[in-house]
Amino acid sequence: MNYFEKRDRLSGSSIFVKYESLTPQEKRADEAIRKMRAELIDRYKGKDIYRVDMLSDEELIGSPLHKVMHELPKACDLHVHGLCLMPVREFVDFLIGNEDIFIDADGKDRGKLFTGGSTEEYRSKGYMTVRECTEGVISRDILERMWTLKGLPDGELPWDYFELLFAQHGDLDKSFDVFEDYYYHAFMYYVSEGILHVEPRVLLFGDHDTVIKKVKAIMNAYHRVRRENKGFTCTVVGTVLKHINLSIDVTKMLLENALFAYKNVTDDYDPDCKRPFVGAIDFVNEEDHSRDLKEIADLIEKATADNPELTLLLHAGESNIPTNSNVIDAVLLGAKRIGHAFNLFRYPGLYKEIREKDICIEVCPISNRILNYTADLRLHPAVGYINAGLPVVIGSDDPGYQEHSTLTDDFFAIVLCWNFGIAEIKKLIKTSIGHAVITGKDRKELEEVWKEKFDAFCSRF
Ligand SMILES: [Zn+2]
Repeated sequence: MNYFEKRDRLSGSSIFVKYESLTPQEKRADEAIRKMRAELIDRYKGKDIYRVDMLSDEELIGSPLHKVMHELPKACDLHVHGLCLMPVREFVDFLIGNEDIFIDADGKDRGKLFTGGSTEEYRSKGYMTVRECTEGVISRDILERMWTLKGLPDGELPWDYFELLFAQHGDLDKSFDVFEDYYYHAFMYYVSEGILHVEPRVLLFGDHDTVIKKVKAIMNAYHRVRRENKGFTCTVVGTVLKHINLSIDVTKMLLENALFAYKNVTDDYDPDCKRPFVGAIDFVNEEDHSRDLKEIADLIEKATADNPELTLLLHAGESNIPTNSNVIDAVLLGAKRIGHAFNLFRYPGLYKEIREKDICIEVCPISNRILNYTADLRLHPAVGYINAGLPVVIGSDDPGYQEHSTLTDDFFAIVLCWNFGIAEIKKLIKTSIGHAVITGKDRKELEEVWKEKFDAFCSRF
């Protein structure tokens, strides 16, 4: 074996997917994507293509590679938070089109949205519809800037700004009709981005009656979209806060509400295949300012012991603090998927168990870069997880506050920064279909619909 043969063998055995397994059609798509990436990198010679605000660059988001990533059928978004499903442009379109949503345009709560009250009450407080607001008080451009990290004031931390945005948009669920409309728009947008299954993390505040109505509003929206789009599904993840500034009673209340919804709302879209619509629970918040999982392990263990069919998902390892070890607890507590696991590289002793138990890592590239967990997306640790054979999927996290387009940007970023092609993309997407919280029948349908779309996508090249 000569030097170059040895070299080829080493390079072939050091990646996790086998290029040879691609169909001729997929190989053509792969070559086209590699060519587009090379041309893009070439055009940016001498300029920093990988900078943090790369998705504000009109040339990059207008590039053929970005367009192709938009057209890519992506199957699932398994990690996204319910209040920021749509990119801001889509979100503002939705707000302008709904005359039941009011905004404080120039008062003390400037930018805060209101629903569920009477028009007279809102008018008397000086609030206006979002359409009226954009026509005279705050321009659309300013509104879009205010509601993303572009509007981050100097010196403020992105996570603190997030909390403000959550508070500004938090009233969208005060009217169940508005809430359903929000989800309907978001799901239709997801379909347009090639996403067929969504698992939004939803906070369930309120009494039991409110919780049921809220979850049913999401279910109605999903049924409307599914009737028009074969294969589309949604599973709600009942979400629990663990921030240290919140009383543990709030954590317990949100958990109790999530479990109540799990037991009491059935998705009966397919009468032969009923399932709990809130199929999973998760515990969230900025990890460095939250209770460690080991501090609430008893709550989590009781919830899963009492409800053995409930899927446990856990955000863990979204931290750069060297002593953060929540990923250990996530594995110990029996999480089926771990959100971020950004610092998993510190615990290689977990890899074997993660592989054996088929625990999936939900990686959110754009979010990790924008929130500064990595200074350079090219060096994201997920590449190491993928190459170590751990099950990995790509999620969008908070597209409303961060992205130009949901999940398209994440795939664009990993193709650009991780040197990925069709073989890697296909593997990530198939892993997401395999780890979605859905019934066997729905998974089969999702896989078939996605495969048909994926073959059509590849055959275009
Ligand atoms: Zn998250």
